[in-house]
Amino acid sequence: MQKESIIALGYRRVSGAKQVKEGDGLGSQEARIREFAERRGYPPLSAMFTDDESGGSENRPGFREMLAFLKKNRAHTCVVIIDDITRLARGVTVHHKLRAAIAATGARLECPSFEFGESSDEQLVENLLASVSQHHRQKNGEQVYNRMRGRLLNGYWCFHAPPGYTHARVSGQTILVKKEPVASIVEEALEGYANGRLQSQAEVQRFLEACPDFPRYSGRVKFDRVTTMLKCVLYSGYLEYPKWDVSLRKAHHEPLISFETYQRIQSRLNGAAKTPARADISEHFPLRGFIRCAKCGKSISGSFSRGRPKEYPYYFCIGKGCQIYRKSLSKQAVETRFDDLLRSLEPTSDLIELAETTFRDIWQQRAASSKERKAALQRVLGNIERSINQIIDRIAATSDQGLIAVYEKRLSELQRDKVAQAEKAETAANSLPDFDDTLRTALQFLSSPWKLWDTGRLEDRRAVLKLVFSKHLHYDEDEGFRTAETTLPFKVLATLRDEVGNLVPLAGIEPALLAELDFE
Ligand SMILES: [Zn+2]
Repeated sequence: MQKESIIALGYRRVSGAKQVKEGDGLGSQEARIREFAERRGYPPLSAMFTDDESGGSENRPGFREMLAFLKKNRAHTCVVIIDDITRLARGVTVHHKLRAAIAATGARLECPSFEFGESSDEQLVENLLASVSQHHRQKNGEQVYNRMRGRLLNGYWCFHAPPGYTHARVSGQTILVKKEPVASIVEEALEGYANGRLQSQAEVQRFLEACPDFPRYSGRVKFDRVTTMLKCVLYSGYLEYPKWDVSLRKAHHEPLISFETYQRIQSRLNGAAKTPARADISEHFPLRGFIRCAKCGKSISGSFSRGRPKEYPYYFCIGKGCQIYRKSLSKQAVETRFDDLLRSLEPTSDLIELAETTFRDIWQQRAASSKERKAALQRVLGNIERSINQIIDRIAATSDQGLIAVYEKRLSELQRDKVAQAEKAETAANSLPDFDDTLRTALQFLSSPWKLWDTGRLEDRRAVLKLVFSKHLHYDEDEGFRTAETTLPFKVLATLRDEVGNLVPLAGIEPALLAELDFE
């Protein structure tokens, strides 16, 4: 009589995909639960509830669903079957909580390996099992922690690989390796942000979203993802994990950027935040915010008019009180004139050749002095190492916790410095990069800046404006652009053009400091 109203149901749990491989997976749990139900003569299982959660966790959506089911079927004798006591929980507290929750619905808990009961002996065994299970989990956790921390200390990253990397076995070790094409995209984004070509985190985000190969979630590259990437020291070939007391150290994987670039990114992140450019409108008006009204000196902005039959784009002066305030300036006229101006900056090939020879001389002088620089960097490195040793001595000599905290903070700063200086010294040791690889690129740009402008990409166009002009351009509707103030390299070229045949001494030229133009 009672048997007919029995409802049997199963509960199974895995924690992560790993268990599936070890024969503890959902399939084998379910098979054992069904076998047990059959052996006891219960009707076929009415339901099976599943959780994919750690045994220490109380967050169990499957379990909650099961409780609701049990409450609804209070009228029947419900039997919950689990494969093993550890499937319920791997912690004493959680075990008792879940067990009490089942009991509260009037249901019974059964499992093939153990008879649950209410006598003091049965309770003792149950408590022991729960306790052993908890110990097992904690011990496991400790072993995993020790193993992983050891790997971190040895310079192997063993957590999630950041975008651009993947884990791979290389000569017996699991190591981060570059994953193309994402690695190159990340590299370009990080370098771009470090050198200011991408002005803000929002621009980095847009850059990444414009790359179809970059991984995204529901079609977007999330903003905090961008921040995490910019802060990620792994990209510079180093690792650290302060939570486990693993300080900054050189890792075994290949870097995407130098540590110096990483530091530049950090100081940009900590610096005053730049207003993100409004891409939607800036893409249509590349000169917006860069050119000024020749009549009043205020910024010239761009907009679309709601004309009929269709809207048309135009530039306008934003200066209130200006005689041409908000008057429409033809976008086509402004940009054609700008194009002409840019093309007029193209020097003759003779001039470029002359500049190249001159630059080559300077380059060689630099190469000669790089040896000296290396020695100087080694001295700095020596000083930092001495300071580190002094701090370590001081930490050893004091028991004042406050003081120790101060020293440790200083110590980690010094260690960062050391890494940066060591890298500089290494770079200096590799002498200067090849002239033809580097300066030729620059000269190619100088010889025809409009080529970069013609790519049509907002970032490239911003770069042209910043690299070529040292001041905002003033525009007049009738007369066009006023005389442009160009940056130093173009000035040098202009000087050369004026004085060809009468070579001016150029040995003292420093690389041009590019003006940070304000776009908004
Ligand atoms: Zn104006």
